[in-house]
Amino acid sequence: MIKVLIIGAGHAGGSVAAFLRQYGHDGPIVLAGEEDAPPYQRPPLSKAWLKGEADLDGLLLRPLSFYAEQNIDFRPSTTAVSIDPKARTVAFDDGSSETYDILVLATGSTARKLPLPGGDHPDLLELRTLKDAERLKAVLGPGKRLAVVGGGYVGLEAAASARALGAEAVVIERAPRVLARVASETLSAFFTDQHRARGVEILTGAEVTAVAPDGVTLADGSVVQADAVLVGVGALACDALARSAGLACDDGVVVDEQARTSDPTVFAVGDMTRRPIPVHGVHHRLESVPNALEQAKQAAAAIVGRPGPAPEVPWFWSDQYEYKLQIAGLPFDADRQVVRGEPATGSFAVFHLNGDRVVCVEAVNAPPEFMAGKQLIAKATPVEVVKLADMSVSMKAVAAQ
Ligand SMILES: Cc1cc2nc3c(=O)[nH]c(=O)nc-3n(C[C@H](O)[C@H](O)[C@H](O)COP(=O)(O)OP(=O)(O)OC[C@H]3O[C@@H](n4cnc5c(N)ncnc54)[C@H](O)[C@@H]3O)c2cc1C
Repeated sequence: MIKVLIIGAGHAGGSVAAFLRQYGHDGPIVLAGEEDAPPYQRPPLSKAWLKGEADLDGLLLRPLSFYAEQNIDFRPSTTAVSIDPKARTVAFDDGSSETYDILVLATGSTARKLPLPGGDHPDLLELRTLKDAERLKAVLGPGKRLAVVGGGYVGLEAAASARALGAEAVVIERAPRVLARVASETLSAFFTDQHRARGVEILTGAEVTAVAPDGVTLADGSVVQADAVLVGVGALACDALARSAGLACDDGVVVDEQARTSDPTVFAVGDMTRRPIPVHGVHHRLESVPNALEQAKQAAAAIVGRPGPAPEVPWFWSDQYEYKLQIAGLPFDADRQVVRGEPATGSFAVFHLNGDRVVCVEAVNAPPEFMAGKQLIAKATPVEVVKLADMSVSMKAVAAQ
């Protein structure tokens, strides 16, 4: 019987364990994770949970009882410290070790620190884990002011949640616009307007030179005072274990479309991987729940020897105020953008095209555009741009004949 050891009990690791049982793996499964909670969803940590609209049970991927019922040996508060690929063992921080036939690495990513004076202060907040979210929630409320360094999705969602809890929020972004790395100018402008309309102060082109738990110093010498400072400047792949075990890494563990690493007995899944994206013909590191689930299926299927899932178009979502943003595809090789609908109405989509093919869609409160856009990307269907921009033409009809 093949024994599978999974390191990292987050969205990807927890899902590998569940898919293995679902696909009929009947050998031992050990699921060891650093955190003390069973696998849970992180997206609500900056959204519903932070606003008090979801409890802990609502966060869990599956109830704790699931692991015993499925004969999955779940070990919380267990940190792997090294891998010996020759002996096929993993050592843990409590001095114990575990053997494996197949190892699955699912150690996720970690919040990037600010490489600036004060950037390593322990009272600065970050938002990656439930514990981080509990710390953040404890400092939000009427009369409080939160400064967020970084205008990415997590920072903007946290600012929106802070407002919902009655706190003031200021977002400090170095780039000329929020979401600069990840979204179109149209989308950045839309969300900037929405945040400002709800009282969030947004500073763009603002270079931070030092941070402290009670304020952020900018390059012009001004200080943004706050009761708490949240640093949301991206995430780094947790690939140190893999690198020291000699696995091929390139800003993330390099895997193939079956989530296999350069060692045939080791798989890797989730935020920590650099993976092929067949639909776009590129290798990329994705940080999303759909990616964690897709790779969990790939690894579990390969381990039990059944066909893997069909390749998916990468997708992602973000909730801010009453707006649901859904993004499918990657915009890197786009040569133009087409806006469908009017941002002022709060429902619109930005399509990124390469020639007459859609490569990415950003849809705000526009599920039909998201769904149809995802299909167009998956099938590389040519579209007629004039029709795409015309709301009177249905999404079904925009595909060129
Ligand atoms: C605040 C927030 C909001 C988000 N919102 C969205 C969203 O709206 N939509 C979306 O698609 N995605 C969102 N994401 C991203 C999504 O949650 C991640 O992509 C997903 O959790 C990745 O799963 P993972 O298992 O790879 O990593 P994780 O879920 O981070 O799990 C990795 C686990 O491995 C553990 N670990 C690390 N090192 C070790 C070790 N040495 N030994 C044992 N255990 C270890 C960690 O403690 C952690 O529990 C959000 C993330 C955050 C933080």
